Amino acid sequence: MKIGLTAAETTLLEHIDPPEVIGFLQELLCARSDYPPGNTTAVIDVVSRKLAAAGIPSRETTLSAEKPSLIAEFPGSQDGPTLLYHAHADTVGAGDLEDWAYDPFGGEVADGFIYGRGAGDDKGSLAAQVMALVCLARAGVTLNGRLQIAAVADEESGGLAGTKWLHDSGQLQPDFLLVGEQTNNNVAIAERVACGIDLIIYGKSAHGATPWEGENAILKTAQALSWLETRLFPQLQKRKHPFLPSPTLSIGKISGGTQWNIVPDQCTVAMDRRLLPGETRESAMAEIAALLDEYAAYTTPLRYELTSEGEVAANIDTPVTTPFVRAAAAALQSVCGERRDLDGYVQTSDGRWFAADNIPIIIFGPGDPALAHAVNERISIEQLIEATRFLVLFAWRWLTQEE
Ligand SMILES: [Zn+2]
Repeated sequence: MKIGLTAAETTLLEHIDPPEVIGFLQELLCARSDYPPGNTTAVIDVVSRKLAAAGIPSRETTLSAEKPSLIAEFPGSQDGPTLLYHAHADTVGAGDLEDWAYDPFGGEVADGFIYGRGAGDDKGSLAAQVMALVCLARAGVTLNGRLQIAAVADEESGGLAGTKWLHDSGQLQPDFLLVGEQTNNNVAIAERVACGIDLIIYGKSAHGATPWEGENAILKTAQALSWLETRLFPQLQKRKHPFLPSPTLSIGKISGGTQWNIVPDQCTVAMDRRLLPGETRESAMAEIAALLDEYAAYTTPLRYELTSEGEVAANIDTPVTTPFVRAAAAALQSVCGERRDLDGYVQTSDGRWFAADNIPIIIFGPGDPALAHAVNERISIEQLIEATRFLVLFAWRWLTQEE
Protein backbone atom coordinates (compact mmCIF):
# COMPACT_ATOMS: atom_id res chain seq x y z
CA MET A 1 0.00 0.00 0.00
CA LYS A 2 1.34 3.37 -1.06
CA ILE A 3 2.27 5.79 1.69
CA GLY A 4 4.09 8.68 0.06
CA LEU A 5 3.12 10.62 -3.02
CA THR A 6 4.58 9.72 -6.39
CA ALA A 7 5.97 12.49 -8.57
CA ALA A 8 2.88 12.25 -10.78
CA GLU A 9 0.60 12.57 -7.76
CA THR A 10 2.51 15.58 -6.47
CA THR A 11 2.09 17.22 -9.88
CA LEU A 12 -1.61 16.34 -9.88
CA LEU A 13 -2.17 18.00 -6.50
CA GLU A 14 -0.43 21.15 -7.70
CA HIS A 15 -3.52 21.85 -9.76
CA ILE A 16 -5.29 22.79 -6.54
CA ASP A 17 -5.18 26.54 -6.02
CA PRO A 18 -5.87 27.19 -2.30
CA PRO A 19 -7.07 30.80 -2.70
CA GLU A 20 -9.52 29.59 -5.32
CA VAL A 21 -10.86 26.89 -2.96
CA ILE A 22 -11.30 29.49 -0.21
CA GLY A 23 -13.02 31.90 -2.61
CA PHE A 24 -15.34 29.18 -3.83
CA LEU A 25 -16.42 28.27 -0.29
CA GLN A 26 -17.02 31.95 0.41
CA GLU A 27 -19.28 32.09 -2.64
CA LEU A 28 -21.20 29.06 -1.41
CA LEU A 29 -21.65 30.67 2.01
CA CYS A 30 -23.00 33.88 0.47
CA ALA A 31 -25.55 31.82 -1.48
CA ARG A 32 -28.07 31.32 1.30
CA SER A 33 -29.73 27.95 1.67
CA ASP A 34 -30.77 28.11 5.32
CA TYR A 35 -34.03 26.97 6.84
CA PRO A 36 -36.67 28.13 6.55
CA PRO A 37 -37.15 27.48 3.67
CA GLY A 38 -33.89 25.62 2.83
CA ASN A 39 -33.99 26.82 -0.76
CA THR A 40 -30.91 25.45 -2.54
CA THR A 41 -31.38 27.24 -5.88
CA ALA A 42 -28.59 29.78 -5.36
CA VAL A 43 -26.06 27.20 -4.13
CA ILE A 44 -26.79 24.81 -6.99
CA ASP A 45 -26.32 27.69 -9.39
CA VAL A 46 -22.86 28.51 -7.93
CA VAL A 47 -21.85 24.84 -8.13
CA SER A 48 -23.05 24.30 -11.69
CA ARG A 49 -21.27 27.42 -12.95
CA LYS A 50 -18.02 26.33 -11.32
CA LEU A 51 -18.24 22.86 -12.84
CA ALA A 52 -19.26 24.17 -16.26
CA ALA A 53 -16.26 26.50 -16.33
CA ALA A 54 -14.05 23.42 -15.91
CA GLY A 55 -15.92 21.55 -18.65
CA ILE A 56 -17.78 19.20 -16.30
CA PRO A 57 -21.42 18.67 -17.23
CA SER A 58 -24.06 18.62 -14.51
CA ARG A 59 -27.79 18.50 -14.29
CA GLU A 60 -30.32 19.83 -11.85
CA THR A 61 -32.97 17.56 -10.53
CA THR A 62 -35.75 18.30 -8.11
CA LEU A 63 -38.78 16.85 -6.45
CA SER A 64 -40.02 20.20 -5.17
CA ALA A 65 -39.34 23.54 -6.85
CA GLU A 66 -37.42 25.21 -4.02
CA LYS A 67 -35.15 22.27 -3.39
CA PRO A 68 -33.07 21.47 -6.45
CA SER A 69 -30.18 19.02 -6.20
CA LEU A 70 -27.33 18.70 -8.68
CA ILE A 71 -25.67 15.63 -10.10
CA ALA A 72 -22.43 15.97 -12.04
CA GLU A 73 -20.20 13.39 -13.61
CA PHE A 74 -16.55 13.68 -14.43
CA PRO A 75 -16.06 12.61 -18.03
CA GLY A 76 -14.42 9.19 -17.92
CA SER A 77 -14.79 5.57 -18.87
CA GLN A 78 -18.37 4.34 -18.52
CA ASP A 79 -17.24 0.76 -17.96
CA GLY A 80 -15.68 1.07 -14.56
CA PRO A 81 -17.31 1.46 -11.17
CA THR A 82 -19.14 4.59 -10.02
CA LEU A 83 -17.63 6.50 -7.13
CA LEU A 84 -20.01 9.08 -5.71
CA TYR A 85 -18.95 12.12 -3.70
CA HIS A 86 -21.99 13.38 -1.83
CA ALA A 87 -22.54 16.60 0.13
CA HIS A 88 -25.61 18.58 1.06
CA ALA A 89 -26.33 22.09 -0.13
CA ASP A 90 -28.87 23.16 2.50
CA THR A 91 -28.04 24.42 5.98
CA VAL A 92 -29.86 24.92 9.25
CA GLY A 93 -30.95 28.45 10.15
CA ALA A 94 -28.52 30.98 11.61
CA GLY A 95 -30.64 31.76 14.69
CA ASP A 96 -30.23 35.20 16.22
CA LEU A 97 -27.81 37.11 13.97
CA GLU A 98 -26.82 39.29 16.94
CA ASP A 99 -25.13 36.28 18.51
CA TRP A 100 -22.68 35.95 15.63
CA ALA A 101 -19.26 37.60 15.69
CA TYR A 102 -19.25 37.49 11.86
CA ASP A 103 -21.95 37.70 9.23
CA PRO A 104 -23.23 34.12 8.89
CA PHE A 105 -23.76 34.73 5.18
CA GLY A 106 -20.60 36.70 4.49
CA GLY A 107 -17.91 34.01 4.28
CA GLU A 108 -15.54 36.07 6.38
CA VAL A 109 -11.99 34.90 7.02
CA ALA A 110 -10.28 35.33 10.39
CA ASP A 111 -7.47 33.55 12.24
CA GLY A 112 -7.16 30.75 9.71
CA PHE A 113 -10.90 30.01 9.65
CA ILE A 114 -13.77 30.75 7.31
CA TYR A 115 -16.92 31.70 9.19
CA GLY A 116 -20.52 31.22 8.19
CA ARG A 117 -23.64 29.12 8.49
CA GLY A 118 -22.76 25.92 6.72
CA ALA A 119 -18.98 26.55 6.71
CA GLY A 120 -18.55 23.05 8.06
CA ASP A 121 -22.03 21.62 7.68
CA ASP A 122 -21.87 21.09 4.82
CA LYS A 123 -20.52 23.65 2.39
CA GLY A 124 -16.90 22.94 3.37
CA SER A 125 -17.33 19.38 2.10
CA LEU A 126 -19.24 20.57 -0.94
CA ALA A 127 -16.49 23.07 -1.80
CA ALA A 128 -13.74 20.47 -1.39
CA GLN A 129 -15.59 17.90 -3.52
CA VAL A 130 -16.39 20.31 -6.33
CA MET A 131 -12.85 21.69 -6.34
CA ALA A 132 -11.50 18.13 -6.45
CA LEU A 133 -13.40 17.49 -9.68
CA VAL A 134 -12.29 20.82 -11.09
CA CYS A 135 -8.69 19.98 -10.25
CA LEU A 136 -8.90 16.55 -11.93
CA ALA A 137 -10.42 18.17 -15.01
CA ARG A 138 -7.66 20.77 -15.19
CA ALA A 139 -5.04 18.08 -14.84
CA GLY A 140 -6.60 16.29 -17.80
CA VAL A 141 -6.62 12.89 -16.12
CA THR A 142 -8.42 9.86 -17.48
CA LEU A 143 -10.37 7.79 -14.99
CA ASN A 144 -11.35 4.15 -15.42
CA GLY A 145 -14.80 4.70 -14.05
CA ARG A 146 -17.37 7.31 -13.22
CA LEU A 147 -16.71 9.96 -10.62
CA GLN A 148 -19.94 11.66 -9.66
CA ILE A 149 -20.85 14.50 -7.36
CA ALA A 150 -24.25 14.93 -5.79
CA ALA A 151 -24.98 18.30 -4.20
CA VAL A 152 -28.26 17.56 -2.53
CA ALA A 153 -31.14 19.47 -1.01
CA ASP A 154 -33.28 18.66 1.99
CA GLU A 155 -30.67 16.96 4.17
CA GLU A 156 -31.38 19.13 7.19
CA SER A 157 -35.11 18.40 7.07
CA GLY A 158 -34.86 14.65 6.71
CA GLY A 159 -33.69 13.93 3.17
CA LEU A 160 -37.04 12.72 1.82
CA ALA A 161 -37.04 15.32 -0.98
CA GLY A 162 -33.27 15.02 -1.38
CA THR A 163 -31.10 11.96 -1.06
CA LYS A 164 -33.82 9.44 -0.30
CA TRP A 165 -35.72 10.51 -3.41
CA LEU A 166 -32.55 10.53 -5.56
CA HIS A 167 -31.73 7.07 -4.30
CA ASP A 168 -35.19 5.55 -4.58
CA SER A 169 -35.76 6.99 -8.06
CA GLY A 170 -32.53 5.42 -9.29
CA GLN A 171 -30.77 8.71 -10.01
CA LEU A 172 -27.94 7.82 -7.69
CA GLN A 173 -26.62 4.27 -7.93
CA PRO A 174 -23.03 4.34 -6.77
CA ASP A 175 -20.79 1.34 -6.35
CA PHE A 176 -18.77 3.27 -3.79
CA LEU A 177 -19.92 6.21 -1.70
CA LEU A 178 -18.12 8.99 0.13
CA VAL A 179 -20.44 11.16 2.18
CA GLY A 180 -19.04 14.58 3.00
CA GLU A 181 -19.80 15.50 6.60
CA GLN A 182 -17.62 16.91 9.33
CA THR A 183 -15.17 14.29 10.52
CA ASN A 184 -12.16 16.58 11.05
CA ASN A 185 -10.73 14.88 7.97
CA ASN A 186 -10.81 11.43 9.48
CA VAL A 187 -12.19 8.46 7.59
CA ALA A 188 -15.38 7.41 9.37
CA ILE A 189 -16.95 4.07 8.54
CA ALA A 190 -19.92 3.73 10.86
CA GLU A 191 -22.80 5.71 12.24
CA ARG A 192 -25.84 5.21 14.41
CA VAL A 193 -29.27 5.87 12.96
CA ALA A 194 -31.99 7.97 14.49
CA CYS A 195 -35.29 6.44 15.44
CA GLY A 196 -38.05 8.69 16.76
CA ILE A 197 -40.30 7.02 19.31
CA ASP A 198 -43.34 8.56 21.00
CA LEU A 199 -44.45 7.42 24.42
CA ILE A 200 -48.02 8.31 25.34
CA ILE A 201 -49.03 7.78 28.94
CA TYR A 202 -52.69 7.88 29.86
CA GLY A 203 -54.36 9.01 33.08
CA LYS A 204 -57.83 10.05 34.13
CA SER A 205 -58.97 13.64 34.17
CA ALA A 206 -60.57 15.27 37.22
CA HIS A 207 -61.07 18.72 38.69
CA GLY A 208 -57.84 20.27 39.93
CA ALA A 209 -59.49 20.71 43.34
CA THR A 210 -60.01 16.96 43.70
CA PRO A 211 -56.90 15.35 42.24
CA TRP A 212 -57.60 12.12 44.16
CA GLU A 213 -60.49 11.52 41.76
CA GLY A 214 -58.15 11.40 38.78
CA GLU A 215 -54.89 9.84 37.62
CA ASN A 216 -52.33 12.45 36.78
CA ALA A 217 -50.74 11.52 33.45
CA ILE A 218 -47.95 14.06 33.87
CA LEU A 219 -46.88 12.66 37.23
CA LYS A 220 -47.04 9.13 35.88
CA THR A 221 -44.86 10.22 32.97
CA ALA A 222 -42.32 11.85 35.26
CA GLN A 223 -42.04 8.66 37.27
CA ALA A 224 -41.88 6.44 34.20
CA LEU A 225 -39.11 8.57 32.70
CA SER A 226 -37.01 8.43 35.81
CA TRP A 227 -37.52 4.65 35.84
CA LEU A 228 -36.25 4.53 32.27
CA GLU A 229 -33.30 6.73 33.15
CA THR A 230 -32.36 4.45 36.03
CA ARG A 231 -32.92 1.14 34.27
CA LEU A 232 -32.52 1.68 30.54
CA PHE A 233 -29.61 4.10 30.31
CA PRO A 234 -27.06 1.82 32.02
CA GLN A 235 -28.29 -1.04 29.86
CA LEU A 236 -27.65 1.02 26.71
CA GLN A 237 -24.23 2.12 27.89
CA LYS A 238 -23.09 -1.48 28.09
CA ARG A 239 -23.46 -1.89 24.33
CA LYS A 240 -20.22 -1.04 22.55
CA HIS A 241 -19.04 -0.46 19.01
CA PRO A 242 -15.37 0.12 18.09
CA PHE A 243 -16.07 3.45 16.38
CA LEU A 244 -19.32 4.72 17.84
CA PRO A 245 -20.76 5.89 21.13
CA SER A 246 -23.15 3.52 22.85
CA PRO A 247 -26.79 3.70 21.81
CA THR A 248 -28.75 6.49 23.48
CA LEU A 249 -32.24 7.59 24.36
CA SER A 250 -32.81 11.33 24.50
CA ILE A 251 -36.03 12.83 25.82
CA GLY A 252 -36.67 15.60 23.31
CA LYS A 253 -40.12 16.97 23.91
CA ILE A 254 -42.91 16.53 26.38
CA SER A 255 -46.49 17.70 26.09
CA GLY A 256 -49.46 17.02 28.29
CA GLY A 257 -52.43 18.52 30.02
CA THR A 258 -54.83 21.23 28.94
CA GLN A 259 -54.86 23.76 31.77
CA TRP A 260 -53.82 24.34 35.36
CA ASN A 261 -57.02 23.30 37.08
CA ILE A 262 -57.61 20.04 35.24
CA VAL A 263 -55.84 16.81 36.16
CA PRO A 264 -54.24 15.77 32.86
CA ASP A 265 -55.37 12.53 31.28
CA GLN A 266 -52.62 12.29 28.71
CA CYS A 267 -48.93 13.09 28.34
CA THR A 268 -46.80 12.50 25.27
CA VAL A 269 -43.01 12.23 25.23
CA ALA A 270 -41.08 12.46 21.96
CA MET A 271 -37.85 10.48 22.22
CA ASP A 272 -34.77 10.16 20.05
CA ARG A 273 -33.35 6.67 20.15
CA ARG A 274 -30.00 6.30 18.34
CA LEU A 275 -29.55 2.73 17.19
CA LEU A 276 -26.24 0.93 16.94
CA PRO A 277 -25.67 -1.49 14.08
CA GLY A 278 -27.57 -4.63 15.02
CA GLU A 279 -30.35 -2.81 16.85
CA THR A 280 -33.74 -2.23 15.24
CA ARG A 281 -36.71 0.00 15.89
CA GLU A 282 -38.66 -3.05 16.98
CA SER A 283 -36.01 -4.20 19.42
CA ALA A 284 -35.66 -0.69 20.86
CA MET A 285 -39.42 -0.33 21.37
CA ALA A 286 -39.70 -3.80 22.87
CA GLU A 287 -36.94 -2.98 25.32
CA ILE A 288 -38.70 0.21 26.47
CA ALA A 289 -42.03 -1.61 26.73
CA ALA A 290 -40.50 -4.39 28.84
CA LEU A 291 -39.11 -1.85 31.30
CA LEU A 292 -42.37 0.09 31.47
CA ASP A 293 -44.23 -3.15 32.14
CA GLU A 294 -41.78 -3.95 34.89
CA TYR A 295 -42.35 -0.50 36.36
CA ALA A 296 -46.13 -0.90 36.08
CA ALA A 297 -45.99 -4.03 38.18
CA TYR A 298 -44.56 -2.08 41.10
CA THR A 299 -46.82 0.96 40.98
CA THR A 300 -50.26 2.12 40.05
CA PRO A 301 -51.66 0.74 36.81
CA LEU A 302 -49.80 2.22 33.91
CA ARG A 303 -51.57 2.59 30.60
CA TYR A 304 -49.31 3.62 27.78
CA GLU A 305 -48.68 3.37 24.09
CA LEU A 306 -45.44 3.41 22.10
CA THR A 307 -45.50 4.56 18.50
CA SER A 308 -42.86 5.25 15.89
CA GLU A 309 -43.46 6.70 12.47
CA GLY A 310 -41.37 7.34 9.39
CA GLU A 311 -38.74 5.19 7.80
CA VAL A 312 -35.74 4.17 9.85
CA ALA A 313 -32.77 3.70 7.55
CA ALA A 314 -30.04 1.12 7.93
CA ASN A 315 -26.79 1.71 9.80
CA ILE A 316 -23.59 2.44 7.99
CA ASP A 317 -21.10 -0.11 9.28
CA THR A 318 -18.46 -0.65 6.61
CA PRO A 319 -15.92 -3.31 7.59
CA VAL A 320 -12.41 -2.09 8.38
CA THR A 321 -10.90 -4.57 5.93
CA THR A 322 -12.89 -3.35 2.90
CA PRO A 323 -10.42 -2.36 0.15
CA PHE A 324 -12.27 0.95 -0.29
CA VAL A 325 -11.66 1.79 3.39
CA ARG A 326 -8.05 0.70 3.26
CA ALA A 327 -7.44 2.77 0.13
CA ALA A 328 -9.04 5.83 1.76
CA ALA A 329 -6.88 5.46 4.86
CA ALA A 330 -3.76 5.11 2.70
CA ALA A 331 -4.62 8.13 0.54
CA LEU A 332 -5.24 10.17 3.67
CA GLN A 333 -1.89 9.14 5.09
CA SER A 334 -0.18 10.12 1.82
CA VAL A 335 -1.83 13.53 1.88
CA CYS A 336 -1.38 14.45 5.52
CA GLY A 337 1.86 12.62 6.22
CA GLU A 338 0.58 10.83 9.29
CA ARG A 339 -1.44 7.76 10.04
CA ARG A 340 -4.93 8.58 11.28
CA ASP A 341 -7.15 6.09 13.05
CA LEU A 342 -10.45 5.19 11.50
CA ASP A 343 -13.42 6.81 13.14
CA GLY A 344 -17.20 6.80 13.46
CA TYR A 345 -19.59 9.62 12.67
CA VAL A 346 -21.52 10.71 15.75
CA GLN A 347 -24.43 12.33 13.92
CA THR A 348 -26.48 10.69 11.19
CA SER A 349 -25.74 11.34 7.53
CA ASP A 350 -27.57 10.97 4.24
CA GLY A 351 -25.38 7.93 3.65
CA ARG A 352 -27.96 5.96 5.62
CA TRP A 353 -30.24 5.86 2.57
CA PHE A 354 -27.58 3.74 0.81
CA ALA A 355 -26.68 1.61 3.81
CA ALA A 356 -29.02 -1.24 2.87
CA ASP A 357 -27.49 -1.45 -0.63
CA ASN A 358 -24.47 -3.33 0.61
CA ILE A 359 -21.96 -0.92 -0.92
CA PRO A 360 -18.86 0.38 0.86
CA ILE A 361 -19.58 3.77 2.43
CA ILE A 362 -17.23 6.17 4.15
CA ILE A 363 -17.93 9.52 5.72
CA PHE A 364 -15.21 12.09 5.32
CA GLY A 365 -15.07 15.84 5.44
CA PRO A 366 -13.37 18.91 6.83
CA GLY A 367 -14.81 20.63 9.87
CA ASP A 368 -15.45 19.86 13.50
CA PRO A 369 -18.79 18.15 14.10
CA ALA A 370 -19.09 20.01 17.42
CA LEU A 371 -19.38 23.31 15.53
CA ALA A 372 -22.19 22.19 13.23
CA HIS A 373 -25.48 24.03 13.81
CA ALA A 374 -23.73 26.30 16.34
CA VAL A 375 -23.28 30.07 16.44
CA ASN A 376 -20.02 31.22 14.80
CA GLU A 377 -19.78 28.04 12.77
CA ARG A 378 -16.39 27.94 11.08
CA ILE A 379 -13.99 25.74 9.22
CA SER A 380 -10.23 25.58 9.36
CA ILE A 381 -8.70 26.62 6.05
CA GLU A 382 -5.95 24.08 6.57
CA GLN A 383 -8.52 21.29 6.85
CA LEU A 384 -10.43 22.55 3.82
CA ILE A 385 -7.34 22.40 1.63
CA GLU A 386 -6.23 19.08 3.06
CA ALA A 387 -9.68 17.63 2.34
CA THR A 388 -9.53 18.85 -1.25
CA ARG A 389 -6.13 17.22 -1.70
CA PHE A 390 -7.41 13.97 -0.25
CA LEU A 391 -10.49 13.93 -2.47
CA VAL A 392 -8.37 14.47 -5.58
CA LEU A 393 -5.84 11.80 -4.71
CA PHE A 394 -8.37 9.25 -3.50
CA ALA A 395 -10.60 9.49 -6.59
CA TRP A 396 -7.61 9.35 -8.85
CA ARG A 397 -6.06 6.32 -7.16
CA TRP A 398 -9.34 4.46 -6.75
CA LEU A 399 -10.50 5.01 -10.29
CA THR A 400 -7.18 4.29 -11.90
CA GLN A 401 -7.02 1.03 -9.92
CA GLU A 402 -3.76 1.88 -8.22
CA GLU A 403 -3.25 0.99 -4.63
ZN1 LIG B 1 -24.52 17.89 7.47
